Amino acid sequence: MNVDFERCQSSNVVEPLGDDVRSLLGMPATDLDQIVNLCKRRGFVYPSAEIYGGFRSTYDYGPLGSLLLRNVKDAWVRAMVQQRDDVVLIDAAILGPPEVWQASGHLANFSDPLVDCTECKTRHRQDKLDDPNTCPNCGAIGSFTEARQFNLMFKTQAGPVADAGADAYLRPETAQGMFTNFASVLQTSRKRPPFGIAQVGKSFRNEITPQNWIFRTREFEQMELEFFVPPADGPSWYEYWCQHRLEWYRDLGIPDSMLRLRAHDDDELSHYSTGTADVEFMFPWGWDELEGIAQRTDYDLTQHAQHSGERLDYFDQATNERYVPYVIEPAAGATRTMAAFLLAAYDEEKVNDEVRTVLRLHPRLAPYKIAVLPLSKKETLTPLAQEVRRLVSDRYMTDYDETQAIGRRYRRQDEIGTPLCVTVDFDSLDDKAVTVRDRDSMEQTRVPIDQLLGELSGRLGF
Ligand code: ATP
Repeated sequence: MNVDFERCQSSNVVEPLGDDVRSLLGMPATDLDQIVNLCKRRGFVYPSAEIYGGFRSTYDYGPLGSLLLRNVKDAWVRAMVQQRDDVVLIDAAILGPPEVWQASGHLANFSDPLVDCTECKTRHRQDKLDDPNTCPNCGAIGSFTEARQFNLMFKTQAGPVADAGADAYLRPETAQGMFTNFASVLQTSRKRPPFGIAQVGKSFRNEITPQNWIFRTREFEQMELEFFVPPADGPSWYEYWCQHRLEWYRDLGIPDSMLRLRAHDDDELSHYSTGTADVEFMFPWGWDELEGIAQRTDYDLTQHAQHSGERLDYFDQATNERYVPYVIEPAAGATRTMAAFLLAAYDEEKVNDEVRTVLRLHPRLAPYKIAVLPLSKKETLTPLAQEVRRLVSDRYMTDYDETQAIGRRYRRQDEIGTPLCVTVDFDSLDDKAVTVRDRDSMEQTRVPIDQLLGELSGRLGF
């Protein structure tokens, strides 16, 4: 038996809302504000320290956002480490001594050109201006100061005495941890090139203009791989990683129309790079970077070998050759990517003349995979509903919600992207079956409780 929980279920009329319909209804096309509002209202992302007025473009990830972010990172680790036998994972320190950043070049070069508008006193990153002569804030022409290089690293002190010996930096990228641990990992993991070291974690940049919500913040999370290869194999591994990374976004539901790979022009390349491409996403403000994939040659290992005096190379016993491996680096942002997944998943459609908001998140990314919903709060239903919740939550992140009318609870789960709802009703007490309702099709199927886990795993795909 299918329970007719949604109004006019059998004759649901479902239409996606085109931009023309949206504008007729006074609704904008999917834009950043819709996502930002939904995320705040439903507990994905809050402005940090909001009770004190917020703090300089920092954000906190709430009950749903922390799950979504964790799922983005887990999906990356699954594809980049778990499903391969040539990549290992590390978790290096965030605080580091100046020596690391001298060797990497960050102390000297990790800076952005900063200009001030003399008319409206706003500050801008020169390389991100549409027109380098026009202030985007007040429209003044030729009002900018000369560009000054502004180093993006956060400096702090390690220990109680503020002398130069205590200087420390918060890492502006996770990558250097892979280079400084190269020899230790090589020794302890029994890997040999081609092999990679991966890391997921926080990075900090004192951005001149943090903007577009969690797209550019001063504290953010990265997912980076340093893949070490024999020098001659650099170009083919670069091609391989470009395609592999593009596939990852596609597999997790970003449509082709919103995704592209853009090779850097020669004048964009760092001096050591022999090729870089960005994976770009169609954000509401246009194409912008999700991830950079760079051929870094032997630059990083050579720099650290020179500065530390340690040997950072590989001896190939098969060929009797010693060489410094070349590095291919796919470097992605976890928080920025989370924004892209949300934007791509956001959908509105008209169901029986009402607008239904759905986050069509891939099941692997959805914060909750399942919601268990007793039809009513009546005491007779609670024990069975809780039993079902325990059964399901042992395997999947599960929400349990017994307040409000069932139709509204379905809408809430649609809006937070829960792929499947499991409804326990009064018939369940007799027939020991529940109703499984699909987020995307809204179809409902009656399933015996003793077959429920198999049914859910078949539908979720894991
Ligand atoms: P941009 O040009 O946007 O400043 P970048 O080219 O300096 O970025 P990388 O150093 O290549 O970025 O960092 C790799 C990835 O880390 C970026 O593609 C992005 O996803 C993420 N990232 C970098 N800076 C930030 C930031 N301030 N906020 C959020 N994510 C970031």
